[in-house]
Amino acid sequence: MSTFKALLATRENGSFAAGFEQISKDALPPGEVLVRVRYSSLNYKDGLAVTGKPGVIRSFPMIPGIDFAGTVEESASAQFRPGDLVALTGAGAGETAWGGYAEYARWNAEFLVALPPGISLQQSMAIGTAGFTAMQSVIALERLGLKPGAGEVLVTGAGGGVGSVAVAILATLGYRVAASTGRAELGDYLRGLGVSEILARESLTAVSTKGLERERWSGAIDSVGGSTLAGILPCMASNASVALCGLAGGAAYTSTVLPFILRGVNLLGINSVRVTRAERLQIWDRLSRDLPLHLLDAMTEVAPLGRIFELGEKILAGKIRGRVVLDVNT
Ligand code: NDP
Repeated sequence: MSTFKALLATRENGSFAAGFEQISKDALPPGEVLVRVRYSSLNYKDGLAVTGKPGVIRSFPMIPGIDFAGTVEESASAQFRPGDLVALTGAGAGETAWGGYAEYARWNAEFLVALPPGISLQQSMAIGTAGFTAMQSVIALERLGLKPGAGEVLVTGAGGGVGSVAVAILATLGYRVAASTGRAELGDYLRGLGVSEILARESLTAVSTKGLERERWSGAIDSVGGSTLAGILPCMASNASVALCGLAGGAAYTSTVLPFILRGVNLLGINSVRVTRAERLQIWDRLSRDLPLHLLDAMTEVAPLGRIFELGEKILAGKIRGRVVLDVNT
């Protein structure tokens, strides 16, 4: 096939447009490995990209899609052979280099991972950047000493992609998990993933004005940021850490230094795009061991890539539950 189907985003005279087109394979950027893409996924960043919001796509024309999984078709790298099943998350896909919303992608081997045994292409995209980030956050908390049994760990934005995977991993590892959500109707879903306590989203932001509150959380994974982060920091236990990975609730927050200097609280920034190859492989290895596939399947919906514009709007509105895998061939 000399052409392939792709979602192409363009900006001409300041005006954003995105639509499906046939693109010549020769137009793919240089790279060691040609991948026949089977699935991609929907992340918050993808929602921003396909709706033309600034901050994700750094150059045009761009094939959006920050993740993809598929089969190696050609390889100039000794690491991969035709027929290998591979996945890519982050690494600038869909931001600075052509991403996963297409039937083909060409990348250098260092950014691709061979699928861990037992994980299918579809499941690798159910994980996607969101699940990768959740595992990266758990590892960051562990490095600072978090262990099961110390007290409750809080996950914010629990109904979303990062939140759902974080809940499932933490519960599987034996933590007591408290989940905050703005959607009371997700109670059964979250309990099914292993949550032991559900909090209304507003209950966290309501305590944000004082410097310190009752020590409540032994760790936290925050995909919401903004006033939610401001509400969490005063409630962290001594020497506990917050893995901050998202801004679904806003970027700016107002806080005091007191949790840091009087309780030794740590605020850990999580960036899933810029990770070393060793970290990338470690995170996938941990995902293959600590994320039960029946829980992953329970939080996943598969949709055709053709629905991307509707789904992009939906994720920005906070209305996606768990993870959405996108089938790029339908
Ligand atoms: P989702 O939309 O799937 O999840 C976000 C969740 O946050 C929603 O489901 C909702 O959960 C909650 N939420 C949405 N809007 C608001 C709001 N206005 N106020 C408070 N809570 C809200 O997105 P993802 O899980 O894909 O991503 C979550 C965040 O993490 C995004 O900001 C994303 O950019 C960031 N991210 C960062 C990465 C990194 O490398 N640092 C990598 C991946 C994601 P509920 O309804 O349960 O309250």
